[in-house]
Amino acid sequence: MATPSTTTGGLLTEIQAETRTAGTSCAVGKTLRSLSKALASDLEAALADQDTYPGAAIARAITARGHRLSSGQIQHHRRGGCSCGR
Ligand SMILES: [Zn+2]
Repeated sequence: MATPSTTTGGLLTEIQAETRTAGTSCAVGKTLRSLSKALASDLEAALADQDTYPGAAIARAITARGHRLSSGQIQHHRRGGCSCGR
């Protein structure tokens, strides 16, 4: 029988590192940084108003401007699954 690997204890550290990486490289955050200041503030305002602006509508508008953003990525950002703004 194989015994558990002695590296098991390092997994949590690796997951935390992955979590940080994923958070700082959130697609929404990346898009915000790539937009001009005026557009980024428009996008941030839309992201903050979930009742008015559905994620899918934001995704379509952003995609129309040549950026790649899915409604799923926007929802993830809105839920705070990333570390943008922290
Ligand atoms: Zn984000």
